[in-house]
Amino acid sequence: MIGAGVSGLFMAERLLRAGIAFTVYEKASDLGGTWRDNTYPGLFVDVLSRQYEFPFRPNFDWSRKFAPQPEIQAYLLQVARERGWRRHIRFDTEVVEAVFESGRWRLRTSDGQTDTVDVLISATGFLREPKLPDIAGREGFAGTAFHSARWDHGVALEGKRVGVIGSGASGIQIAETLAVSGTDVTHFVRRPQWIHVRDNPRSTLLGRLALRLPFAYRFRSRQLWRWLGGMDLWRTQPGLARDAVALELAKPLEAMHDPELREKLRPRMPVGCVRIPKSDKNYYAAMELPNAQVEVRRIERIEPDGVCMEDGTLLGFDVLVYATGFDAQAYMRPMRLIGADGVSIEECWKNGVFSYRGVSLPDFPNFFMLYGPFSPVNNVPIPIGLDQQTDYILRVIDAARTRKAVAAPSREATDRFVSDVRRKLPDTVWTGCPNWYRGEGDTEIL
Ligand code: NAP
Repeated sequence: MIGAGVSGLFMAERLLRAGIAFTVYEKASDLGGTWRDNTYPGLFVDVLSRQYEFPFRPNFDWSRKFAPQPEIQAYLLQVARERGWRRHIRFDTEVVEAVFESGRWRLRTSDGQTDTVDVLISATGFLREPKLPDIAGREGFAGTAFHSARWDHGVALEGKRVGVIGSGASGIQIAETLAVSGTDVTHFVRRPQWIHVRDNPRSTLLGRLALRLPFAYRFRSRQLWRWLGGMDLWRTQPGLARDAVALELAKPLEAMHDPELREKLRPRMPVGCVRIPKSDKNYYAAMELPNAQVEVRRIERIEPDGVCMEDGTLLGFDVLVYATGFDAQAYMRPMRLIGADGVSIEECWKNGVFSYRGVSLPDFPNFFMLYGPFSPVNNVPIPIGLDQQTDYILRVIDAARTRKAVAAPSREATDRFVSDVRRKLPDTVWTGCPNWYRGEGDTEIL
């Protein structure tokens, strides 16, 4: 397996229980994936904490309704200790090449070693490769600059002028946190977002104790999942519910005192077509603080001293944060992946990424992806999706072992699946505007 993030760890537990020998190759020095890499101030999980835990390891002690990043990473490290997962992980080992030869996968790692395995599972995540903005002059900035997923905690922000470029889920949480902490912050917003402003209350002692009661935990989790399923139909079906979501999300925007700022931040794209950032400090109120500015003019270039706007105004900065997202279409790449008959993943995905049911590909036998193309859709909490995908992969592995065969979806089955997605997609929110769910080159696939 490649990757020791949430997906890889989930699968590790399943493989341990199934008694299947495995190795996890992890290119970093520790586990946790996105929760290890993203440490920016104000980061919290955007689904209920309890929906983000492994179903086989409840946690009754989340400090808040939506847990902050350090707590999630600590939970992952704790569960890894309890379950002995580390024994199976080879840290600082990047798989640079995987080739399907004579019915098995030959792996080459960054340290020059080779291994041969029967089944290869890619658990590399999909928001892993940071994307820096292609703004002229970026390299020449004389202050400190870093991507949101590579936060430089060595830089003290007190008394500094900080620019945050990007207003997705990361940029919103960073800008509001810096503003509330009194930092002089300018938030560059290219496309105003629909933002879900909501409280993030501390959990109470009584609530934590109640979860420990027999059946209480299971009951509440099940109720929540059912409720969530009902709630999220607005993403897949047009109608009044979708309009109601837009009206509800706009309430904190309408409550802004400054009418000019309110219009600057008014979204002009359909609700839900990009993933809705979650704000637990009321982003709109935070941007009205005297130490916060919102900039919606187009950025012309970056100068050594700051950011030059389209009208020639130069805004001076000491620190620039690029909250400019990820290459969500990379998946396991840049790893070289060569399937049956020498077909490369580049060739397979030349018209855009796709998969059979989010987990496999024709021409890539005994190869599986966790949260592969079509899986990251945001209406199912990731552990729930992983529960289904890991179960499915194990059933396929089991069937292949019984038949002493390798497993891959047929082209026909994959075509049918992709056609089905294509047919259903126009009704969903995801086609409403450019977003990271759909790459730039996937026009032929979707
Ligand atoms: P993102 O959603 O892709 O947002 C990137 C932002 O950068 C957008 O506002 C984009 O503007 C802007 N941008 C990109 N290039 C630019 C340029 N050259 N000039 C100006 N602006 C530029 O990335 P993200 O905020 O890191 O979030 C990615 C995903 O990570 C989220 O959708 C979510 O799934 C996940 N996430 C989750 C959590 C959580 O669970 N709490 C927190 C953070 C992130 P445009 O909109 O105009 O393109």
